[in-house]
Amino acid sequence: MFSRTDFVGNGAGKVFLVGAGPGDPELLTLKAVRAIGAADVILIDDLVNRAVLAHARPSARVIEVGKRGGCKSTPQAFIQRLMVRLARTGRVVARVKGGDPFVFGRGGEELEALRAANIACEIVSGITAGIGVPATLGIPVTHRDCAVGVTFVTGHTKGEGSSSPNWPALVAGGTTLVIYMGISRLPAICAALRAAGMRADMPAAAIQSGTLTGQRAVIATLESLHDQVAAARLASPAIVVVGEVVRMARAADMARPGLAQFIEPSVHGVRDALYEAA
Ligand code: SAH
Repeated sequence: MFSRTDFVGNGAGKVFLVGAGPGDPELLTLKAVRAIGAADVILIDDLVNRAVLAHARPSARVIEVGKRGGCKSTPQAFIQRLMVRLARTGRVVARVKGGDPFVFGRGGEELEALRAANIACEIVSGITAGIGVPATLGIPVTHRDCAVGVTFVTGHTKGEGSSSPNWPALVAGGTTLVIYMGISRLPAICAALRAAGMRADMPAAAIQSGTLTGQRAVIATLESLHDQVAAARLASPAIVVVGEVVRMARAADMARPGLAQFIEPSVHGVRDALYEAA
């Protein structure tokens, strides 16, 4: 085994960009557990199950940087400045994000900011929702018989003027499509896929709160997905999967319910008001 010093360095401060997986705290990696346990300060995103804080040191400071509960999300530049400042004072920081930090998680931007400030940084990969959530229903994102690949796209782009996914190219590519942050734009996305020539009866699924006890899913076709999602009132966070692999979906395959609760308040750690901490 390595000592804590081997892992975190010797007093110079360091940031771990940690992926916490899609929700079930048992889907944390051993390395994520170790980084959370080594941290002096934990910056935690709103999608992360608070149960992961069971691995924190009792003295760790926990800072919430998400937007759940109606608060405005913490500005990205602020989070980046905070990480740099903490690391410069010799703190070990675990920046804990849902899923994988480099898949729609702004981990790339944070790494750039840390590199620019010359702060040591280590990436701890996590299971991304786009793989781990479909898997709960038995949906493999690739399959030798019917899906030569998988494409991860966002259904929500940065705002006015920014480009949205090239739907015709994605349909022509013929891979499984896994769409993050797409549930609120579902009618437009399904219409774009149909306009690009995708079959109306292409299997499609939407899964909310995947891997957690509150998981709910709709298994449909491209044509009926939106109506069924609306009828079931599925909402964010949800993953949409479109492709032949969705034929394999079985609700009964859902990971053992009861194991993966979304635990609200932290069990460990001193909780600071965010702006006080800055
Ligand atoms: N870095 C994350 C993604 C962050 S973007 C990852 O790798 O998984 C946030 C989006 O991820 C949500 O809008 C939703 O589309 C998806 N997501 C995250 N957790 C989810 C969950 N438990 N169930 C369903 N979708 C989830």
